[in-house]
Amino acid sequence: GPPSPLSPELQLRDVFITVKTTRAFHHSRLELLLDTWVSRTREQTFVFTDSPDEGLQERLGSHLVVTNCSAEHSHPALSCKMAAEFDTFLASGLRWFCHVDDDNYVNPRALLKLLKTFPQTRDVYLGRPSLNRPIRASEPRPHNRTRLVQFWFATGGAGFCINRKLALKMAPWASGSRFVETAALIRLPDDCTVGYIVECKLGGHLQPSPLFHSHLETLQLLGAAQLPEQVTLSYGVFEGKLNVIKLEGPFSPEEDPSRARSPPMQMPSPPRAPDSMPVY
Ligand code: UDP
Ligand code: MN
Repeated sequence: GPPSPLSPELQLRDVFITVKTTRAFHHSRLELLLDTWVSRTREQTFVFTDSPDEGLQERLGSHLVVTNCSAEHSHPALSCKMAAEFDTFLASGLRWFCHVDDDNYVNPRALLKLLKTFPQTRDVYLGRPSLNRPIRASEPRPHNRTRLVQFWFATGGAGFCINRKLALKMAPWASGSRFVETAALIRLPDDCTVGYIVECKLGGHLQPSPLFHSHLETLQLLGAAQLPEQVTLSYGVFEGKLNVIKLEGPFSPEEDPSRARSPPMQMPSPPRAPDSMPVY
């Protein structure tokens, strides 16, 4: 029906996109993002890191969030960043929270198309299941007891989205210091903790989507014709070989190893040479 003033048609500016990064990847990963998809979503994209960086600050301004989280690769340090992403989303007042890693490529058009399919009246937790079965965790209970719990979770490395309705319900386990505490309780990484809160604490369910991708999959299997419909993509090294989507030029694998600078990843904007001036 026609858009009502209470719930106008979803637009990209209603979506809050967070990118998790760390000092070691400011140059090797963030620059690529700023040169590509972030330059098209800069209004709603916020980058969360652990270390100040003048160059990044200059390009991102207030959209660079330097957390007090440690720069180490530990569950508490990673959960600390997820907590900061979550809290900043809550404060933003926007309708959707979408988290990605710094080795993800986001297709804003496909993302918006997907999010538009969900009614605002529902609680939505959307992403790619990390495993083909629920994960198990041991939840501490009073009197030194434990309870075995099972739940699905979206792999953080493929990106996931949560709508505001659900995020508000998650706050008692996810806001402020509570996200890190919840993660410590079940002793699992941040993305598992999100699934635990949604499924075990709130009785919600992960809505699986095949349109989110991490480098844990064989990315070459994606057909070129399907690429423009994918919400997220990624790249990485697996068993010594680069795991990336299959795309012909115009840039060589050496110039553009992730393929993020090559069409159709860059559609509808024209491709730019890897060494040209950033548009961001
Ligand atoms: N990361 C981080 N701190 C670290 C290591 C990684 O915040 O000490 C972030 C990194 O920037 C990325 C995510 O965690 O957004 C996953 O890291 P990576 O891609 O290196 O690992 P994998 O995908 O193998 O889990
Ligand atoms: Mn990764």
